[in-house]
Amino acid sequence: MILEIVKDRGPITGEQIAEKLSLTRATLRPDLAILTMAGFLDARPRVGYFYTGKTGSQLLGEKIKKMTVKQYQSIPVVVNESASVYDAICTMFLEDVGTLFVVNGNGILVGILSRKDLLRASMGKQELESVPISIIMTRMPNITTCNPDDLLIDVANKLIDKQIDGVPVVRDVETDGKVQHEVIGRITKTNITKAFVRFANEDTV
Ligand code: ADP
Repeated sequence: MILEIVKDRGPITGEQIAEKLSLTRATLRPDLAILTMAGFLDARPRVGYFYTGKTGSQLLGEKIKKMTVKQYQSIPVVVNESASVYDAICTMFLEDVGTLFVVNGNGILVGILSRKDLLRASMGKQELESVPISIIMTRMPNITTCNPDDLLIDVANKLIDKQIDGVPVVRDVETDGKVQHEVIGRITKTNITKAFVRFANEDTV
């Protein structure tokens, strides 16, 4: 009823809305606060409430577009570029992840290994302890990354576009005049699923 009144008569003061509903301004206060916080109404001092014209799904979209990588990222699981395929398989099991980031001695991203990369390497008859991951990994500069301030929705789009399960969260560092990526986190399909659930549980729209 409040929304209908404001749609019809806005801008309108809280006092006037209360009058129309035969209620006191104090009774209405929490309702107005919720409608304003949720974005359906806007309030201007000395003018009153007006209808923003936004639908529930527009407001949801706006909220989703505020979710950033740094709010949802996990700690990265990395292996050194000198590791063997055997070591990488052990790390993947021990750390319970599906994607490993490959780094050099300075924590700089040099490659990435997925479950299928390791399965493929295991299909041959080679000794897995003697096969270095550096020959089977996907390597820089062909790695899709993201930064902590990126929007989660943009990362979700990258996962879909590139058909990958996760991306490293990186910070750019300059060494010898070259910009390189230091690995500081990870975003995978699991993080995005968790964000989706957390969003649904928290949201009041
Ligand atoms: P899987 O290979 O187990 O299905 P993915 O779909 O994540 O897992 O990986 C597909 C291929 O893309 C693999 O060869 C992997 O090395 C590569 N890859 C995975 N993540 C990335 C990324 N962030 N950037 C570039 N390549 C990636």
